[in-house]
Amino acid sequence: MIDHYKIARQRMVETQLIPRGIKDKRVLDAVRKVPRHLFVDEAFYGQAYGDSPLPIGEEQTISQPFMVAVMTEALELKGDERVLELGTGSGYQTAILAELCHKVFSIERISSLAGRARKVLDKLGYGNVVVRIGDGTLGWKEEAPFDAIIVTAGAPEIPQPLTEQLKIGGRLVIPAGGEFMQSLIRVRKTENGIEKEDLGGCRFVKLIGEHGWKVEKEGYEY
Ligand code: SAH
Repeated sequence: MIDHYKIARQRMVETQLIPRGIKDKRVLDAVRKVPRHLFVDEAFYGQAYGDSPLPIGEEQTISQPFMVAVMTEALELKGDERVLELGTGSGYQTAILAELCHKVFSIERISSLAGRARKVLDKLGYGNVVVRIGDGTLGWKEEAPFDAIIVTAGAPEIPQPLTEQLKIGGRLVIPAGGEFMQSLIRVRKTENGIEKEDLGGCRFVKLIGEHGWKVEKEGYEY
């Protein structure tokens, strides 16, 4: 039987990722492999390999495939890393990370999203992922330090616990800036301190928490 989704993924890599400069072969292979459609509602299956973010409920979105590839490539994963992820959301980025590192520690503040992501990740057999519900801006102290940290929601500034919980030589990728527009920042922790690099403009939903934006809606507090 022809796997139309697999063909759509190949096409996505060839038209959206390679021409825009994604080079890491392991990242491209992971995007070719992970069935993105399973991380969205069935009503969106037909759009799952398009060039855009999609709604996943709770006013949150699954990131644009290109953005997932850019952020993942920026983490420079080789395979043996322990990675912290903030904003599990649909779990798609989590699955990509799980393909490329040793273990993923993922934190999501909205329990219904965390539960749904967990189910899909289990169904696909990702045993190297731990999902926790909570405020990721505090990091995950018991499991720190991490080789790499990825934040998939926009922060007003870089949460201090995250740089503290990064290993020397580690990379942190985070959208930081205003409520509606941010810059994608890569932080490298060196012996001499923190180096920051601007990887370009981006637009993410808000990172809400103690070291993020403050809660603006009733009902999502924990
Ligand atoms: N990587 C996800 C992106 C989801 S959108 C995907 O592609 O599906 C960003 C997610 O960050 C949302 O699910 C939101 O609830 C979550 N989030 C926001 N603030 C958070 C925080 N402080 N800790 C953990 N998750 C947070």
